[in-house]
Amino acid sequence: MAVRTKLVAGNWKMNGLREDSSALAQALARRMVSAGSDGPGCQLLVCPPATLLTTVGGLITGSGIALGGQDCHAAAKGAFTGDISPEMLADVGCTHVILGHSERRHGHGEDDAAVHQKILGAWRAGLTTILCVGETRAQREAGTAVDIIASQLARSMPSDAVPDSLVVAYEPVWAIGTGLTATLEDIAAMHAAIRTRLPAQTRIIYGGSVNPQNALSILGLAEVDGALVGGASLDAESFWTIARSCPSPAQIAGG
Ligand code: PEP
Repeated sequence: MAVRTKLVAGNWKMNGLREDSSALAQALARRMVSAGSDGPGCQLLVCPPATLLTTVGGLITGSGIALGGQDCHAAAKGAFTGDISPEMLADVGCTHVILGHSERRHGHGEDDAAVHQKILGAWRAGLTTILCVGETRAQREAGTAVDIIASQLARSMPSDAVPDSLVVAYEPVWAIGTGLTATLEDIAAMHAAIRTRLPAQTRIIYGGSVNPQNALSILGLAEVDGALVGGASLDAESFWTIARSCPSPAQIAGG
């Protein structure tokens, strides 16, 4: 069985000013540093708003927590008012970027073709992409969830994806920020369906109202390689508890 290090990523969305976000970043960095080799059995990533990348990046340096952006333009530079290029994210220390989040797809009209171009741009800048896919409530109820996800993957994921440069986040749209989570059976089934379309080493993480109470059971599923966490990532203790819910690679290998 392929052993994949789990990834727990915090999507801070459009939340945070310098003072509270600095406190959050410092609290996480402190926990990581004092945990040392007894730290969580996963990779930790925070994705603050663009205005806070430099501040947060400075505060987590040396802690082992990675920094990511929440979106980027496909181009390296140019006349794109308000946009941020992948190179700009890399320049401030980002190693990751979230792309195709449902709040971008539904709130900003981003389609799979645009997401595809953004992924290529992110790879050009050396960023690992967290590609979000997910079905709406109506699509799930219509029984088309797997087809929708397969289509999003086929249209947005470049064919030459390599495991280190791509993480897929399965995020049912109806579970994001609602307090609703997919059942463990539905998560396992969808992750298994996605797995058939990806290289064995590519991580598939789950997102949708993950919290300290449900993290252990979700992250304990064999096909779940981590979590993309929105609301609960804004509280250091909650995010840390979620991260600590990851079984270590050794535990996974040992069965
Ligand atoms: C998200 O923003 O990707 C997300 C899953 O949010 P939440 O955890 O709040 O549902």
